[in-house]
Amino acid sequence: MITARILKAAHVAAVWHAKQRRKGSAQEPYVNHLLEVAYLVAESPEGRNDENLIIAAPLHDAIEDAKIPYSRIVEMFEADVAHLVQEVTDDKALAKQERKRLQIANAPHKSQRAALLKLADKTSNLRAVANDPPVHWPLERRREYVRWARAVVDALPPASPWLRQK
Ligand code: ZN
Repeated sequence: MITARILKAAHVAAVWHAKQRRKGSAQEPYVNHLLEVAYLVAESPEGRNDENLIIAAPLHDAIEDAKIPYSRIVEMFEADVAHLVQEVTDDKALAKQERKRLQIANAPHKSQRAALLKLADKTSNLRAVANDPPVHWPLERRREYVRWARAVVDALPPASPWLRQK
């Protein structure tokens, strides 16, 4: 059943990221971000009929931030879902500046589906920086984040004009 698979993904994302918080002053549970990304994908005209992409959305930070192995996602969902998560995962072995540079450099090579997922992720992150920025970020750092996030989105294959308006 489609709804059960999607809720399973939302549930395991909540469990896997249970101790993680957003960086804003509200210290929101990280799962709020994951569910926002999921509903943005599910509402978009390009994503609404793509069940595995909707399932990958709440799981998109699982490998990078929760250290969940790729193989675990294959076991619990399927290889297509794990592959989508992998496509939007940074290599944490690299320094932060290098990861940020690579997000722009690698963006043009993403699949349409990964591009939609990344666009939803950046939309959620930009909203957070606008509404509840990380407490220790001065204005210039927030501006710099917005410039970088736009550069990533601009370098992606065109994914969803609908979502770009958000
Ligand atoms: Zn994210």
